Amino acid sequence: MQDYISEVLSKVEAKNANEKEFCQAVYEVLHTLKPVVEKHPEYEKTALLERLVEPERIIMFRVPWVDDKGVVHVNRGYRVQFSGAIGPYKGGLRFHENVNLSIIKFLGFEQIFKNALTGLPIGGAKGGSDFNPKGKSDNEIMRFCQSFMNELQRHIGHNLDVPAGDIGVGAREIGYLFGQYRKIKNAYEAGVLTGKALEYGGSLVRKEATGFGLMYFMHCMLEKHGIDIKDKTVTISGSGNVAIYAAQKAMEMGAKVVAMSDSNGCIYDKNGIDLDEIKRIKEVERLRIKEYLKKHPDAKYSENIEGKTPAVYEIPAQIVLPCATQNDINLQTAQLLTKNGVLAIGEGANMPTDNEAIEYFINNNVLLAPAKAANAGGVATSALEMSQNSMRYSWSYEEVDHKLKEIMVNIYKSCLMAINEYNLGINYSAAANIAGFKKVASAMMEQGII
Ligand code: NDP
Repeated sequence: MQDYISEVLSKVEAKNANEKEFCQAVYEVLHTLKPVVEKHPEYEKTALLERLVEPERIIMFRVPWVDDKGVVHVNRGYRVQFSGAIGPYKGGLRFHENVNLSIIKFLGFEQIFKNALTGLPIGGAKGGSDFNPKGKSDNEIMRFCQSFMNELQRHIGHNLDVPAGDIGVGAREIGYLFGQYRKIKNAYEAGVLTGKALEYGGSLVRKEATGFGLMYFMHCMLEKHGIDIKDKTVTISGSGNVAIYAAQKAMEMGAKVVAMSDSNGCIYDKNGIDLDEIKRIKEVERLRIKEYLKKHPDAKYSENIEGKTPAVYEIPAQIVLPCATQNDINLQTAQLLTKNGVLAIGEGANMPTDNEAIEYFINNNVLLAPAKAANAGGVATSALEMSQNSMRYSWSYEEVDHKLKEIMVNIYKSCLMAINEYNLGINYSAAANIAGFKKVASAMMEQGII
């Protein structure tokens, strides 16, 4: 059976040779599926894995826009509709200068399994652009979003494909995208995008959902392994949407968050991070994290150095939450964190730990909550936003938070069931892959060769 999986992996590598991140993500999933695929010879007969690794549709388009000085720029837009087997395509949009097809495909591929794990009827997709929002004025962001939506609107819809935010796309961008969609369609289809502001169809707790969900999952995992989160030292890579609300929930659970970062460097505050100040710097002023020193001169700032371990991982911590970007933790960083006494890693970001580092953590008894399970709270709450939009009704903060918690506990239970059924020890990554895959594979078998 490994032969079938190896064969598919070889084909993926040959066909997508210049898509490093996509090949990495496919390898990470497929090499854990052997015990399931073994039980189902029909998967090979129906080329199920070959179909699963090929997106249903890839859309690439030109995004021209004019900056405040009148200069014309052209970016590239992407939407990869990877799998619609269990529901409308669903997944965020990323605006970042390093976005390319490989990154969007890896994110779309992972989204399939994550969305399946939520237990909600949503397929997998991802999109974005190589547009860099840093330093752009509000008007430039608006014009870019409008141009992006001029094309994207042909390919999305509340029963077809429902984008949301990701890196560089928050409530401001979703607002501009929604406005343009509404104008073009001449209809109020609230459920076409999620992550909307509360005034026009957003859901309470959506903003907090990925970070909160991460900590709900971590709580289940740590409790199961006899670790009390209270008073544990936590460091967090990133200071964006996921990082901020993971920090908030970790603090509410009694942990001490001592470091956060952005792409330039990290701040270390031994007294515990002042999260209100981080929110002001990042959510309101959109400044660099170094700004923190102005109000907290006793804190320390370390610059990231290209090619070296990101500064935030130099700081010893018992719980580490990578909430920034992919491939943040390699083998060398994993060894350093382990040497410094880390007990658990919680992946708020997508694919923040590379495959060698995952293996190292597992072999060294460090718990790892994998992204597909642990950061699924964001998309799950997006699906709750879609439900509320359909009903033309909104739930209270407590109701949504309760549903989110319930979903994260169920995701944890699904992982545990896979661990027990397939004897996976502490390999939560394999467990999440298997649990997500089983649902998608069954749906694909039911629907025939399409
Ligand atoms: P934001 O744009 O709000 O924040 C991103 C943070 O990560 C910023 O602090 C940013 O620093 C840092 N960062 C981004 N790119 C890099 C890079 N190349 N190197 C170092 N640091 C970087 O994004 P989110 O918080 O929404 O997303 C963070 C991660 O979580 C991503 O992997 C995303 O896919 C994942 N995720 C997000 C969900 C959501 O609901 N938003 C849901 C599930 C997963 P700087 O400002 O300097 O760029």
